[in-house]
Amino acid sequence: MTITEEIQTIFARRGSSAYFGEGVSVTEHALQAARLAQIAAAPTALVVAALLHDIGHLLADVPDDLEEWREDARHEETGGRWLAARFPPPVAEPVRLHVPAKRFLCATDPEYFLKLSPASVVTLKLQGGPMTPSEVDRFRAEPYHRQAVQVRLWDDQAKVAGLITPDIAGYGAQIEALHGELEKLI
Ligand code: FE
Repeated sequence: MTITEEIQTIFARRGSSAYFGEGVSVTEHALQAARLAQIAAAPTALVVAALLHDIGHLLADVPDDLEEWREDARHEETGGRWLAARFPPPVAEPVRLHVPAKRFLCATDPEYFLKLSPASVVTLKLQGGPMTPSEVDRFRAEPYHRQAVQVRLWDDQAKVAGLITPDIAGYGAQIEALHGELEKLI
């Protein structure tokens, strides 16, 4: 199985479930985030990071109903680890940091919090709320923190019900090339 087929299988298994409290499925949400990255002329690694930013939701057994969440499921760490074993840091790191990026933006951009969807406000509490000043400093020291913020902003916009986007196969060449880059590194 190629890495693209592996990803397609993961999305086919659970991606049709609703994206927590929003009007799109997890798969639609991922495809919209990738499309927004493409429209912004982002580097390939960041387009693939946007596409796969929530893969941790599909790997772990997270309850579909937001109300059932007793604690944050830490999907960014599950996803970041899964990606780090298959892709170079420019893909895996923005994914690992995309939830901290939300907490960072809430602490540093007063406009940002006001634009969050109701479901995103609920998960913010589970995720630890806005960052403290020392957390902000630590986040800024992360080499991929800017890329994580970009993924986060596309993530927030990728919730348009009924929007038509290219499917995962449309990113196959980029996915395979980036996967090949990691294999060259090891
Ligand atoms: Fe997301």
